[in-house]
This record gives sequence, C-alpha cells and structure tokens, in this order.
Amino acid sequence: MSMLRVGIAMLQGARHEHAEAVVNAAHQLELNVEIVPLRTPHDLMDGIDALILPGGESTTMRITSRHYALLDEIFTYIHEHPHIPVLGTCAGAILLAAPPEPHTRCIDVELTRNTWGRQRESFEAVVDVNLDIESFEFEGSYRPVKIGSYTPLMMEQQAAPTLNEGFPGVFIRAPRFCEISEPCRSIAMLENEVVGVQQNNIVALTFHPELTKDRRFHRWLLTQANVGGQ
Ligand code: GLN
Repeated sequence: MSMLRVGIAMLQGARHEHAEAVVNAAHQLELNVEIVPLRTPHDLMDGIDALILPGGESTTMRITSRHYALLDEIFTYIHEHPHIPVLGTCAGAILLAAPPEPHTRCIDVELTRNTWGRQRESFEAVVDVNLDIESFEFEGSYRPVKIGSYTPLMMEQQAAPTLNEGFPGVFIRAPRFCEISEPCRSIAMLENEVVGVQQNNIVALTFHPELTKDRRFHRWLLTQANVGGQ
C-alpha cells in the first residue's frame, strides 16, 4: 500500500500536535502515512504529498526559518506543486497570506494579527464548517506510526462527527480575515465572522483543529493527498 508523506514545518508552535492529529486521522481513514518533519530544505528533497503550516507565532517562525531559509524552500515547493493540499492554522494562515519575499501570497486574503485579544483572551467556540470532508467508519486495528524518531501514544478515537456538526474552534491570539477575494472562499464561520477559507487545495484557519480531538480537517488533508496521488 502506498504511503502518504505529510510534511510539517517544524519551525515553532503546535507542530507535534499536528503530527499526532495526522496519525490519528490516517488511522480513521485507514491510510498509511509518514510524517516528514521539515527542519531544513534537505527534508523536502524526497517530496511530500501534503503540507501543514502549524500555528504558533509567525514572527518567531520567520526568524527561526532564516538560518536554513526553510520558509523560502517551503513556499517555492508550494508554488511548484500547486496540487498538493496544504493546511495552515493560525500563524500558518498568516504565512500563507503573507509569505516571506519574494513569494506571492498563496491565498487571496488580508489578515490582521492578534485581533481577538491577548493570550489570556483565548477562547473556544463552536465553528460552522462547510468543507467537503469524508466521514469514516473505522473497523481496523490501530498501528503505531513513527514520527521522526518517536512513536506517539495512541489517543482515544472520537466517533466521527457528522459533517454538519459544529467544529470545536480553539482561538489563541488569533488573526482575523479582513478581506477575502475570489477565488478564495469562506469555509468556516464563527457566527458572522469568517474564520476559515479555502483556495483550491489550500485551507487556512484562524483556529487550532490540532488542539482538539476532532480530525475532520486532517482527514480532509489526507483525503485530498490520496486523491492527488491516484
Ligand atoms: N498571534 C500569532 C501570530 O501573529 C498567531 C497565533 C496562533 O498561531 N495561535 O503569529
């Protein structure tokens, strides 16, 4: 069975949580995945089938990226492989909207940073999601998957939420979409506010799905990668 290679930018922030979420989603979909931790441009050499830009602190990510010009390589890779699915969460969404120069933005949005308040004003709220995500019926047994040099603990599996069920949105010093232009479209709403967008194979969220047990967005990523590889 072929192996999907999921690259995760390991610059800073909630990267290990994303790795575990991918492994978890792969079990739900019974897909084989390999997590490719991206630390230097060398890590992209064998190619990836999907990419995650985690949340955290985008300025810190830009700074930690400088040594190896990792973000530069990642955005070159995205532009050269427009079919690979990309999930950017929070700071990851900020980077997709404003990559380091000379790269042009990957999603046609304007974002303002830290617009929901400070760290202590972080909150959870139900988000309405409108994205084509496959549900699953898991019957197999769980196989431990290595992430780099370690094997994550298997987290308890959550029953598949129905597709229309609200998503548990975790907002931490989140940015706000202040302008969204075609072909970018809204896929997640917090009341009247857009908190997630999709443009072709790129999904950018201002919240953190990896900090919940709901794997819908990670299933979306893997499903897209799997279709792309067929
Ligand atoms: N405030 C952060 C930034 O501007 C993003 C917050 C997050 O990723 N949770 O980069």
